[in-house]
Amino acid sequence: MSQRTLVLLKPDAVRRGLVGEILGRIERKAGWTIGALELRTLDRAVLEQHYAEHVGRDFYEPLVAFMSSGPVVSLVVEGERVIEGVRQLAGPTDPIKAPSGSIRGDFGTITRENLIHASDSEESAEREIKIFFPGLS
Ligand code: ADP
Ligand code: MG
Repeated sequence: MSQRTLVLLKPDAVRRGLVGEILGRIERKAGWTIGALELRTLDRAVLEQHYAEHVGRDFYEPLVAFMSSGPVVSLVVEGERVIEGVRQLAGPTDPIKAPSGSIRGDFGTITRENLIHASDSEESAEREIKIFFPGLS
């Protein structure tokens, strides 16, 4: 089943020069294509929408500060089972628990600075794509 998902390469990935490495892993998956791509620094209003489910959690304010600390690469990836697939490439939220071979497992140590966001369901994907790429049909 062909799907779309919203992916963010977080400010740590951009600062550390890991954009090409991470994009390459996504791009090399058979049949997946990049449908939209942009580099920009996110403001609080966008992050409040994007992370609405986490408002009030103890990690929320530091997360918003981190996510607005520098440019982020936002992209839409399209293809077969891409929602589950990019989550699998990313690995679990805590990079220390993420297996070698996953993006977080290979490059991360800090839970907040875990390099990549990927939508977790079809509903999240459609909601998040509207926030980052409102012009995309
Ligand atoms: P995921 O990005 O794997 O879907 P969540 O939706 O649970 O994870 O959390 C969103 C983001 O908030 C995480 O990717 C991470 O950057 C940050 N985060 C989550 N839990 C924690 C935590 N316990 N401490 C610090 N940051 C956290
Ligand atoms: Mg999440």
